[in-house]
Amino acid sequence: MARPVLAIVGRPNVGKSTIFNRIVGDRLAIVEDKPGVTRDRLYGVGEWLNTSFSVIDTGGIEIDGEDAILKSVRIQAELAIEEADVIVFMVDAKAGVTPSDEEVAQLLFRSKKPIVLAVNKVDNLARQDDIYEFYSLGFGDPVGISGSHGIGIGDLLEVVCNLFPDKKDDEYGEEVIKFALIGRPNVGKSSMTNAILGEERVIVSDVAGTTRDAIDTPFERDDQKFVIIDTAGMRKRGKVYENTEKYSVMRAMKAIERADVVLVVIDGQEGIIDQDKHIAGYAHEAGKAIVIVVNKWDVVDKDDKTMQHFTQTIRDHFLFLSYAPIVFVSAKTTQRLHKLLPVVIQVAENHSLRVATHLLNDVVSDAVAYNPPPTDKGKRLRINYVTQVAVKPPVFVLFVNEPELMHFSYERYLDNKIRAAFGFEGTPIRILSRRKS
Ligand code: GDP
Ligand code: GDP
Repeated sequence: MARPVLAIVGRPNVGKSTIFNRIVGDRLAIVEDKPGVTRDRLYGVGEWLNTSFSVIDTGGIEIDGEDAILKSVRIQAELAIEEADVIVFMVDAKAGVTPSDEEVAQLLFRSKKPIVLAVNKVDNLARQDDIYEFYSLGFGDPVGISGSHGIGIGDLLEVVCNLFPDKKDDEYGEEVIKFALIGRPNVGKSSMTNAILGEERVIVSDVAGTTRDAIDTPFERDDQKFVIIDTAGMRKRGKVYENTEKYSVMRAMKAIERADVVLVVIDGQEGIIDQDKHIAGYAHEAGKAIVIVVNKWDVVDKDDKTMQHFTQTIRDHFLFLSYAPIVFVSAKTTQRLHKLLPVVIQVAENHSLRVATHLLNDVVSDAVAYNPPPTDKGKRLRINYVTQVAVKPPVFVLFVNEPELMHFSYERYLDNKIRAAFGFEGTPIRILSRRKS
């Protein structure tokens, strides 16, 4: 199930980043030990009671020149209106209603999405009365909060979570593989989408009453059903901000959330830049199956070592994606493109693979016998039992004497052993340690 999306919108300095950090907390850092994963905080996962949701901090888009504030606020509002399920419109109790707030209000009025007005910097009870003037903005009851004091955040999230669309079953059946092509502008995502579909019989959905996104494209090949989840941005060209990194990352987020398999597209001609890594890092953190696709292979000068060298370069740059297979293609000439879907099918299978508990325990106890966990202050980690608790991605729980004794390097050792025994190419796997002696 894709998480619902919350966007925080407002003029600069009202406290959007402060609230974003409060909501996301340290949850963003699923893989903090692994190098190469971005710490760029513009997208994160929040939780309130039983609801897990994505949060977009729409602030921080840099726009230069005249009317910079107005322009950036416009972009934020547009992003939020398109991408979010619920929008928090944030204002500042200390500043009162400003003309910029009114501008934002005008933009948000066009949205059909639910909007919650949050008045920040209500740092104490005396300030509570300051929220009433914000009724004039026309968004109903304001919720008073204080980002720096952590007041009212729970109340705000409760209102927000109640406005998220009802959880519905996944729009597509379990047997359908949903994949998204992500990557910076101009790597060839649209060309590749067209090339893939060009070879296929595109089936138009005739399922009545589905809330299927218009930008999803279902198709079928050799009895396997697929859906390409388009990162909407591909269809909307020519906006000033389209090529900014933050914007393309945000556009990719929603597609990543909804996909089972993410194809990280790289330009074989231009090579790898940081932006490629940032985008791939999100897919990794989201726990999706990943295939690295090197496009424009037609224009690369090749000899018999080129592919090997490029593979090594990718491995060096994407240390956190060592599990992802690499496919070289040309969307333009469709050269090697037939290799892509079989790999997508394979990694999707690995992503939802369930390993029998006894096999898992055999592999882990062999691994432990061969290379026992190191001791720490005279104590040694003891692993009593392992079980797989989830798929998509596979999650393994180790029941141990003392979880604190588990070290990252030993976890990685077990990770490698599990992978060597069961495959799991193309999917991240997670290993958790829980106390149970
Ligand atoms: P953004 O530009 O909307 O993302 O705003 P920031 O989160 O960067 O905050 C702008 C300023 O307001 C910073 O100096 C924050 O420390 C301050 N600030 C944020 N939340 C609060 C709050 O609840 N109370 C007070 N008094 N200051 C706050
Ligand atoms: P997107 O922004 O990632 O969707 O990229 P596009 O699909 O729009 O492609 C950007 C540019 O790269 C266009 O001029 C394409 O014709 C070109 N292009 C895409 N794929 C290939 C390829 O495999 N080989 C070559 N030579 N050019 C390509």
